[in-house]
Amino acid sequence: MNKQVPVQRNDYIDVVFEDLTHEGHGVAKVEGYPLFVPKALPGEKAKIKVIKVNKGYGFGRLIELYEESPDRVVPDCPIYEACGGCQLQHLSYGGQMRAKLKQVQDVLARIGKIEDVLVHPVLGMENPWRYRNKAQVPVGELEGGLVAGFYKHRSHDIIDMETCLIQQEQNDTVIQAVKKICGNYGVRAYDETSHKGALRHIMARYGQRSGEIMVVLITRTPELPHQNEIIQEIIQQIPGVKSIVQNVNSKRTNVIFGDQTKVLWGEEVIYDSIGSIRFAISARSFYQVNPDQTKVLYDKALEYAGLTGNETVIDAYCGIGTISLFLAQKAKKVYGVEIVPEAIEDAKRNAALNGITNVEFEVGEAEQVIPKWYKSGVHADVLVVDPPRKGCDSSLLETILSMKPKKVVYVSCNPATLARDLRILEDGGYKTVEVQPVDMFPQTTHVECCSLLVREDN
Ligand code: SAH
Repeated sequence: MNKQVPVQRNDYIDVVFEDLTHEGHGVAKVEGYPLFVPKALPGEKAKIKVIKVNKGYGFGRLIELYEESPDRVVPDCPIYEACGGCQLQHLSYGGQMRAKLKQVQDVLARIGKIEDVLVHPVLGMENPWRYRNKAQVPVGELEGGLVAGFYKHRSHDIIDMETCLIQQEQNDTVIQAVKKICGNYGVRAYDETSHKGALRHIMARYGQRSGEIMVVLITRTPELPHQNEIIQEIIQQIPGVKSIVQNVNSKRTNVIFGDQTKVLWGEEVIYDSIGSIRFAISARSFYQVNPDQTKVLYDKALEYAGLTGNETVIDAYCGIGTISLFLAQKAKKVYGVEIVPEAIEDAKRNAALNGITNVEFEVGEAEQVIPKWYKSGVHADVLVVDPPRKGCDSSLLETILSMKPKKVVYVSCNPATLARDLRILEDGGYKTVEVQPVDMFPQTTHVECCSLLVREDN
């Protein structure tokens, strides 16, 4: 028999919050029934209104705070409530660090049944603002002028954004300038309903080390009205611009990029570096959005790999080869595999750019390519994985268990799938030695982890 739900929709009730979910919602329990409430913090007492009631859990809205958490702060961003891009600006940065640590510890115990592992305090940023090196914003029209910003919650109305506090200032400047310039030349914004208008999105990329800027205009139409004038104004108004690119997306879709990309002015790529490795970044390349913290994360991966110069390393899910190239500096040989062909092209180009010759990259599924390498005599001492949010493919985990590398370094952007995969590796003879969470995305609920596993029979 199902227990009866103790609250009803539209009830006003007083609650005490006990916890914070990985989505940043406060959790309060009424007779064991959990209610999730956005913007509420653990320890707070409040009156809430019950908004939605499901069988096992419900949602509420904060009505009145009786007692505030000592970690509550006033968000600096004027559009925090409307935007939704950040979820934790109302929590002090110290509070964010503690909440992320607890989240990692909790899922390791709950999902992975891993309780005796050392989880270090989160490595955060000294200044947890203005860290993103890439902005991509939709463009709309309001009273005849162009607006660029973000979609209003649960709608496709675009709200104008003058500044985004987690963006590098240069990206703010680019978005503002390009919006004005295009508006002045009468460029019409794309309209989803009528499928008319030209400009869909503006993207800005900034090389934090190099100071180089790329501007990408994503348009519905192959032609950009007043293209030459617009280019000239962009060059004049934005010092540091090295590349102006157009991408054409003529489809009715909410996917941002289309298939056709052309350089309108300047270079095809901008450059940036992480540590001593340089990267060429094109309009469509994947590149980590927080380079400072990427360095912190990859330094940890390098430390855990414990390389002496004699090791063979495999980087499964290698993307554009960021981790591979980082590790190649200390390894005998690194093999990287990745499913997206363009990413492997970038990886090879980046290896050449840095004069790194002890790496080999191959396109394919990690779970297919690694066993093939194994058969041809490639035996990894260290295997690094950095999978997407869904975690490692189960057949890759089986491959690891049969190949038995001495060490596995698991870089993860999702603690829940990390915990699931660590359990499988532990059951197959590995021991999780330590886990280091790194804050790559301050003010949001995301947390990255670098974990070290060693074989127990070592
Ligand atoms: N370490 C990389 C990024 C990893 S993101 C970097 O910093 O650049 C995860 C990557 O795994 C993505 O590039 C995705 O395309 C790739 N991927 C997803 N499934 C895969 C599979 N089955 N085999 C190999 N690569 C895969």
